[in-house]
Amino acid sequence: FDKQCPQSDSVARRIANSGASSVLFYRDPIEMVSAEGAWMTDIKGIRYLDFYNNVPCIGHSHPAVLEAVSKQIGTLNTNTRYIVPIVDEYLEALKSTFPEALNLTNIVLTCSGSEANDLAMRLACKHTQGTGFIVTESAYHGNTAFVTQVSPSALKNTKLPDHVIAIPPPAKKYYGEEVGQGFANQVKAAIDQLNQRGIKVAALLLDSVFSSDGVFTEPYGLLNKAIEVVHQAGGLYIADEVQPGFARTGTAFWGFQNHHVSPDIVTLGKPMGNGFPMAGVVTKSEYLDAFCADVGYFNTFGGNPVAAAAGLAVLKEIQVNNLQENARVLGDYLKQQLQAIAEVSPHISEVRGSGLFIGIDVCDSSSAQKPDAEFTVKMIDRLRDENILIGAAGPDGSTLKLRPTLCLTKEEADYFIQAFAKVLGL
Ligand code: PMP
Repeated sequence: FDKQCPQSDSVARRIANSGASSVLFYRDPIEMVSAEGAWMTDIKGIRYLDFYNNVPCIGHSHPAVLEAVSKQIGTLNTNTRYIVPIVDEYLEALKSTFPEALNLTNIVLTCSGSEANDLAMRLACKHTQGTGFIVTESAYHGNTAFVTQVSPSALKNTKLPDHVIAIPPPAKKYYGEEVGQGFANQVKAAIDQLNQRGIKVAALLLDSVFSSDGVFTEPYGLLNKAIEVVHQAGGLYIADEVQPGFARTGTAFWGFQNHHVSPDIVTLGKPMGNGFPMAGVVTKSEYLDAFCADVGYFNTFGGNPVAAAAGLAVLKEIQVNNLQENARVLGDYLKQQLQAIAEVSPHISEVRGSGLFIGIDVCDSSSAQKPDAEFTVKMIDRLRDENILIGAAGPDGSTLKLRPTLCLTKEEADYFIQAFAKVLGL
């Protein structure tokens, strides 16, 4: 948002209260008052189709979550030092979404994806006795001191520390046709570079859809070789499922499953409680046993009974309403329609993604090779004028990122497509 723009009283109030940490969308931020399904309503009564928010996966203000949370908070909510069966019911339901062969038998619930990645990284360090991490160039994994070090996109004027190496995400534009092999070679080079610095690799930490890097979901199956390389060097593979998890990619419940790989540790968050703050680490018990024998782990709020109630409601809703299939069908439809638009618009160079996680590359009209971040911002603003909320990703912010609710309807998808064509002048 733009501090030079004249601001409403409510924006000025927020800035007075939160100062430089205020993270607000749009030059002229929106004051929201309510939301339902895929729509949000602002203070002027304007309704916006939410194509950005990867939190209310089953729909804003969902009645099932409202009922589950209110019932539990009116019955019992406490720190996590007591046995409350709904917590174990949730842990078992969540565990059942992971293939048994992975042997990910323990789950630690936390309150944010950052906390989850922080713990996952500490488990990896303990198990491997290494301290090195390999991530992708524009990755974001969270906000703790430890996790910020592996989040290149969050480090504005700070260099990556010596124990972190960032490599390009596995995409054709960086590696050519042999993406999987090229990516594995980069991982190997990163391990060698760490070794030269006297650092052993602890883990390869990857967002399974490379969302901050610009959304690279396909081709499926391109991570195997890189993971083999990291395993050979004694490191672990941590799958960060904060963005793709909970059925969003349509073809799988977890993003890593699309690549047919076996993570050693998985981290979750964002849509997990449909807005109720909750996240988690899914791990092999041996890692947790060794870690807890040493420093232990306690989280006052992580996995409290109300969080468990919210989480259960989300899992049930995804299953009962077959939202994974909805994500697949509507995602394919959106992609197909957007690709047709890309063929006739000189401003769109590529459309890619899986299910309801789609990236659209915006380019200068003179060349598909010239990313256009300025025009991307214009499109975001113009889409707002068409009552659609959307955001951007990628190293230079020139990839539009689509993540609508999983309960999206065909009519809502069409509403988006029409507005998208309109802002491109089609
Ligand atoms: N991992 C990824 C891939 C994320 O996108 C985010 C948040 N954008 C996080 C971790 C951190 O999650 P949180 O904001 O809940 O701490």
